Order: sequence, then structure tokens, then C-alpha cells
Amino acid sequence: EINASIITIGDELLIGQTIDTNSAFLGQELNKIGIWVKRRVAVGDVYDDIWKALDEERKYSRLIILTGGLGPTADDITKPLLCDYFKTRLVRNEAVLQHIHDLYVKVYKRKAYLTEENKKQADLPENCTILHNAYGSASGMWFEDKNAHGDPIVFISLPGVPYEMKKIFVDEAIPRILQTFGGYAVVHKVLATFGLGETLIAEKIASIEKQLPSHIKLAYLPGYGQVKLRLTGKGLNKELLEQEILPYYEQIQTLLEDITIANNDDTLQIIIGKLLQQQKKTLATAESCTGGYIAHLITSVPKSSSHFNGAAVVYNNDIKEKILGVSHETLQTEGAVSEATARQMVAGALKQFDADYAVATTGILGPPTENDEKPVGTVWIAAGNKDEIISKLLNLGYDRERNIEAAALQALNLLRK
Ligand code: ATP
Ligand code: MG
Repeated sequence: EINASIITIGDELLIGQTIDTNSAFLGQELNKIGIWVKRRVAVGDVYDDIWKALDEERKYSRLIILTGGLGPTADDITKPLLCDYFKTRLVRNEAVLQHIHDLYVKVYKRKAYLTEENKKQADLPENCTILHNAYGSASGMWFEDKNAHGDPIVFISLPGVPYEMKKIFVDEAIPRILQTFGGYAVVHKVLATFGLGETLIAEKIASIEKQLPSHIKLAYLPGYGQVKLRLTGKGLNKELLEQEILPYYEQIQTLLEDITIANNDDTLQIIIGKLLQQQKKTLATAESCTGGYIAHLITSVPKSSSHFNGAAVVYNNDIKEKILGVSHETLQTEGAVSEATARQMVAGALKQFDADYAVATTGILGPPTENDEKPVGTVWIAAGNKDEIISKLLNLGYDRERNIEAAALQALNLLRK
């Protein structure tokens, strides 16, 4: 099996100014072709630190991928360092120079000439294979070497800009990686469940987990209220793998039938969008504590306008009365965070937005204060149509962001029923 290491370079990554999304992307892509990412390292724009990272990672991995630090500015030192590391020198590449010229002049329409800084981007190590950067001026580089055992190893250096990095990796690097190391076939099958924790699910399917052969692995991917189960098979023949995985997948499906929400990678909002479209029905939301987050989830799915009518984000009690027709008495006696309020919010949204279905949330999200009228984490959710409204009490924790996410997903799940 071939292991990979990812080294991300840049001070901005270490101080948390930029979140390292490049590693996540590379990990996913490598996983697809059956290469296991053994280690990830982040280092600053420091010559010695990058050098040491290269020396260290070659002990663990035969594929070492670097991102960042390829720009022409003084803080970007990856390129000269790689020259020293691989005992080579920079030579100007005419094809790359032409490409940079075309980028600046034709695409950016900036100026008709290149500065010395711009031209430097065409200076590349003599003994590397250049990986074409269709979207930018910093080329990727592919170096071959041998590790301490004499096995061939590969170093790939890519620019830090995520969309340039992705393009080069997918178009230029992956075909070469497959050619060099030979690819494995990888087959994933995903089942999404809702409402049961990971340990309880594990108990339910323990018998199947025990039967799995070593090349088929089961992973639990927990989210808020949701747990995805992913079976991954690795081998040489894709069709054979699919045939092998299927019976395990079907057994898990049968055991978890009650809590399964999707048989692939769909999210709740995608599933609900599909259901509404199939039934030609519409939805509205009335959100107090989720502040429009449910509407955001629903509308982040393309074409949602066909099934989403609108949202009311109602925080103030008077507004709950005025916009959604929640009764004054209910708000006085039972409070805004109550089952009755949640149900009346659904009824109000159905009417105001002329929708077939509506969902509502009202709750106390925290963090705790001195004058909370109910325990922090108390959330009422309700969903329904003109014939029936169902409601549910959630007892969540103190973390505001988590609570918003959990309340929104639970409310959407209520809608599914
Ligand atoms: P350029 O040719 O554009 O200068 P570069 O290789 O020098 O590319 P950097 O200067 O290190 O790249 O970073 C360019 C941009 O990419 C910066 O905005 C940086 O924050 C971002 N970036 C760098 N590394 C990562 C990473 N691992 N994940 C996400 N973004 C990153
Ligand atoms: Mg940088």
C-alpha cells in the first residue's frame, strides 16, 4: 500500500488566518484512488522547517505533496528550497513564460508587458516535471527520488491558492500518480441515518461488522443528530468490489431501516427538496431560535424556489403575534418557548406563506444568562400541514452554534415524517 504525506506551507495557516482546506481536498482525492494519507504537517514560510518536514515525511510516505509558498514574493521560498533540496538550478521555461504572458495580457487584461517578478514565475527547477497551472502563473512541480530502502518516491509541489491547486492536482498530478504507483479501485457506499447515536448503531450492526473482510471497512461519520455509515472497499477490480460490498450494505440497510434517511450522500435538505418536488408541494419556515438557518439550508439546494415559499424570522413576541398570529394569551401564559407557540407558528406560516407544509423553531440557545426563563437548550420544534401538526421538545446543550445546527436538522427531520 502507498502512503502519502501532505505538507502545507504558510505562516497564515499557523496563525489561523487561513483555514487549511487544501489538505482536506487532497485527502479526499487521494482516498478516492486508494492512497492512504498517513500524515499531515503544517509549517511556516521558514527554509529550515520546510527542509526538515521533507526529510521527515520521506521516512513515512512514498508520495509527499506540498502546497503553498510558490509565489514570486520574498516570503515564498518553496521553489529555491526545492532547488537546493534536489540539487538542481532554476532555468527559464519558454512555454511557461508564454502561458504567463497570455494569462496577464489576454485573461487579466492588465498590461502588455511582464515585470521581472512576473517572469520569475517561469523560472523552474531543471530536473522536475512541470505540472501546468491552467488558472495561474505558479506551475506545479513533480520531483522523483528514492527513499532509504531504494524505493521510488515522489514529491509534488503545488501553489497555495485552492482553486489553482485543485485544478493542477486533478488534471496533471493524479494521472501521473496512477501511472507511477498504480491505482487501486475504491468503492464507497453510504447510508445516512438520523436520530440514533453512533454507539447504539454500532451495537445494532455489530454482527455484520465482525463478518467484514479486511479489504472492506466500515466508517462512522457522525454529524449533528445524523450518523453516516460508509462502507469502503479497496481492491484491484471495481466491479468485483461492488458485488462484494452489496450484501453487507443490504444487511445494514435492513437492520437500520427505521432510522435510514438516505441511501447515498444526500443531506436532509436535499432529501426534503426531492420529496417536496415529487409531491409538488411547498414549504415555509417560521424561525425564532434558528434565525433563518433552516431557510438557508433549504435554499442552498439548487432549484429550491420550486418548493420553498418563504421564511419568517420572528424574535420579538409582538411580531410573533402580528406576523404569525400566535395568540397573546399563549405568549403570556406559556411563553415564547413552548409547544403551543411552536405549533401556532407552524399554523401561521402555512397561512401567511400559502404553503402546504411549514416548520417552526423556538428555543433558548445559550450561553446561559441570569434571567433565562427556561433551561438553556430548551427548544420546541414543530412541523406539519393544515391537517396535522407534530411537535417535539429538544433538550440541547449550551453551545449556541451547535444548538442552531441541531435544532434546524431536527426540525427538518420532523418534516420528513
Ligand atoms: P501565488 O502564486 O498565488 O503566490 P503561492 O503558492 O505562493 O501562490 P501562497 O502565497 O502560499 O501560495 O498562498 C496563496 C493563497 O492561498 C493565500 O490566500 C493563502 O491563504 C491560500 N492558501 C495557502 N495555503 C492554503 C491551504 N493549505 N488551504 C487553503 N488556502 C491556502
Ligand atoms: Mg505564502
